[in-house]
Amino acid sequence: MTDLSKSLRFLLENKATLTLPEIVDQKASSDGTVKWLIKLHDRNCIETVYIPETDRGTLCVSSQVGCGLNCTFCATARQGYNRNLDTSEIISQVILANRALSTDPELNSNSIFRFQEKPVTNIVMMGMGEPLLNLENVIKAMHLMMDDYAFGLSKRRITLSTAGHVPGIDALAERCRVSLAVSLHAPNDDLRSKLVPLNRKYPIKALLNSCHRYCNFGNRIRVTFEYVMLKGINDDIKHARELSGLLQDVACKVNLIPFNSYSGIPYERSTSDQIERFSEELRRRNIFVITRKTRGDDIEAACGQLAGDFADRTKRSQRISKQQIALS
Ligand code: SAH
Repeated sequence: MTDLSKSLRFLLENKATLTLPEIVDQKASSDGTVKWLIKLHDRNCIETVYIPETDRGTLCVSSQVGCGLNCTFCATARQGYNRNLDTSEIISQVILANRALSTDPELNSNSIFRFQEKPVTNIVMMGMGEPLLNLENVIKAMHLMMDDYAFGLSKRRITLSTAGHVPGIDALAERCRVSLAVSLHAPNDDLRSKLVPLNRKYPIKALLNSCHRYCNFGNRIRVTFEYVMLKGINDDIKHARELSGLLQDVACKVNLIPFNSYSGIPYERSTSDQIERFSEELRRRNIFVITRKTRGDDIEAACGQLAGDFADRTKRSQRISKQQIALS
């Protein structure tokens, strides 16, 4: 780039790279969903998923290599945690997906979304990891997603999902008010602490207060509460009543997620009838509720099934490997 000054070229040479992570595997579901396994410079692998609908193409982006939060029903949690993704690794997922979808005729013809320019029209920070525990890098990446010189998406087309990190929600409200989704999953602290251990640090009341603040900062903002439907655990009508009481004063919608199973997990998905009864009960109590359609479960790309490929670096895994060494 000889049109740049020598000093700037020198600076760029020392500070910047023009390489992308590598797609090492691609799986396409019969419903058009695509999952990529992406290898990072240190050989850790993360997963990214594209979910086409007739009017949009949503990319589910990862924010960490693994996740340290230990939600008891989530496949990513079982894999453990390795590290935060940097900004380039987060935004690379969008570049790689747009590229793969625009250049692979097979993926394109399989997709029900007939895109005009870019295949990715919406982004959900709902892949591997807890985005609010990697706040700086995630915010920088989301600014690029919104920047007219980069991806030009409106902030309403970007959704960040959190397990309920209260200081992170407040920081996001001030710095980058995209659409917010909160993984609630239970209507009381006892049950929620069992399913989402982060609840012990930030219990429901504190979490809902931060959601109130998030809505008050701007107009027309509604928080989405995700609620995974686990048979016999959190899917009783009494839970629906308790939930509607909790959410009476919050500008929100509830997104029921049928549990996606994988091998070795002790939970089961609620029956469709029970999910219907649960959502009917919420509707009767004036809660706006939708049930998320399960997409891509034939390629293990559905919510909570992303696992990637990396070495766990949590104390838990160190304990397990020490036990294994002791036993051998
Ligand atoms: N850490 C963030 C981002 C993960 S988003 C968060 O917790 O919100 C993924 C969503 O899928 C979360 O709502 C998560 O609780 C949910 N999920 C995890 N495992 C699941 C499973 N097996 N079936 C259905 N939903 C699941």
